[in-house]
Amino acid sequence: MKILKETITKYLSAQYDKAKRIIISPAFLALFLAGLVESQYYHIRHLKNMVAEPITTIIFFAFLYIVGLLVAEAIFKIFTSFDSSFDGQIKSNVEEIVTESKRYLYIVSPYISPGNLLVELILKAAKSGIKVTVIHHSSQLSNPDLLIFLRRLIEVGGEMYHHPKIHAKIYMNESSVLITSMNLITSSFDNSFESGIYTSYYSIRKECTNYIKNTILDSDLIKKTIEEDFNIKTGYCIRTGVEIPFNSLKPVEYKAYLSSGQNRNGKYCHFCGEKADTSVLDPFCEKHKNIKE
Ligand SMILES: [Zn+2]
Repeated sequence: MKILKETITKYLSAQYDKAKRIIISPAFLALFLAGLVESQYYHIRHLKNMVAEPITTIIFFAFLYIVGLLVAEAIFKIFTSFDSSFDGQIKSNVEEIVTESKRYLYIVSPYISPGNLLVELILKAAKSGIKVTVIHHSSQLSNPDLLIFLRRLIEVGGEMYHHPKIHAKIYMNESSVLITSMNLITSSFDNSFESGIYTSYYSIRKECTNYIKNTILDSDLIKKTIEEDFNIKTGYCIRTGVEIPFNSLKPVEYKAYLSSGQNRNGKYCHFCGEKADTSVLDPFCEKHKNIKE
C-alpha cells in the first residue's frame, strides 16, 4: 500500500514538473502564438476548413509554428539567461549583481569577509538608495571584518541579519540571481573550487525572493545584526601591541601613554595588533583604516 502511494506521488510530481516545463517552453509559446494568429486574423477559418483542406491547414500551422518558435526563442534569449558558473566567474557574477542592482540587493552568505573592493561596491549601491540586505550566520558575530562592514553599511542605510542555521548562499538583485556554493569571503574567491547557477529566469528569481523573505527573514530565530551583539571588545595598544579595551580615541595603554611624552606614533594596529605605522590620530593599519568608533 505504501509503495503504491509513493509511486503515485512520484508519478504526479513528475507530471507536474513536466507540465511546468512545457508551459514555459518556447514550443508552447509558439503554439500559443499560432493559435492567437489563427483566432485573431483568420477567425479560425483554417480550423473550420480542416476537413476540406487538411494539407493547406497543416502547412499553414507548421509555418506559424516555426515562426512562433523563432520568435519565442528570440524573446527567451533577450529576456533570460541561464548559465552555470565556476570559480573565478562566480566572483565576477557577484560583482555584477552588486553593481547592476537598481532597487534591491540580497546577500545571503554564512561567512562574510568581502574585502575592500566588494565592500566599496556594496556601500556605493546602498548609498545610491538601493535597499541592501545582508544575511549571515550567527557565528560571525566574532568576525572583526563583519563588524567593520556592519558599521559602514548601517551608515548608508543597509541592513544586516543573522540566523544560526544559514547555510545557503544566494546573491540577488531585481533582475538576476546567483545560487552558489561560494561564501562572501575573499579567500574563497581565488582559492576554492566553487560552482553556481547564474540566471535572470523569472520564476527562479521569484522563488528565491520568496524563500529569502518568507522563509529566512520570517523565521523565529532571525535577528537583526547590531553592534552590541558582537563579542569583539579588545583592541591593541599601538605602541606596545598588548591587548587593551578597544577604543580608537585611546589606542594606547596607560603605561605607554605616560612614557610616550609628545610622541604620538605607534607600531601596531589598534584593531588587529599587526605591525603597522600608526599614530594616535590614525591608529589602524591599511586593512582596517576604515573602522570607526
Ligand atoms: Zn589592522
